[in-house]
Amino acid sequence: MRCRDCESHLTDGREAVLGESLKRELAAHLEKCPACRALRDDLKRLRASAPGLAAPPLPAALERRVRAFCHDEIGKLERQTEERRKRPALPAFFWPAFGALVALTAATILPGLKDLFLDGEWTSRTTLALVFVVQNVLTLLFAPVILLRRLDSGSLCRE
Ligand SMILES: [Zn+2]
Repeated sequence: MRCRDCESHLTDGREAVLGESLKRELAAHLEKCPACRALRDDLKRLRASAPGLAAPPLPAALERRVRAFCHDEIGKLERQTEERRKRPALPAFFWPAFGALVALTAATILPGLKDLFLDGEWTSRTTLALVFVVQNVLTLLFAPVILLRRLDSGSLCRE
């Protein structure tokens, strides 16, 4: 569970009616996230200090409309998820482009490695090959970190 989901569950005041698996996820997140724990404690104190300010019951017609709206939204999300699942994970041009990049990388690196290991010389091609390798290693190491930070931006804390 991410912080923004946890905040949403905590602030809507309906933790008691969450399903068992969501309750377990929420408890596990609260166990490890001090920011969300602090939010939960603040909300508890706030609710305890102003018990008369609880929300009035919804009129039945409004509740039916809200439930119907939510049902429609959930249906839309499920259809979108299903469509996304049907789409191929990689675009059609991926493998030809990947093959071309591998060939280009090999063509760039191999002469430099040949200079170093077979001829025993350190040439500018060797330097270029090593720069290429280091650059690719750094990209592979940091791409997941950057992607995860972008996904979780906008919440109060990081997991
Ligand atoms: Zn959190």
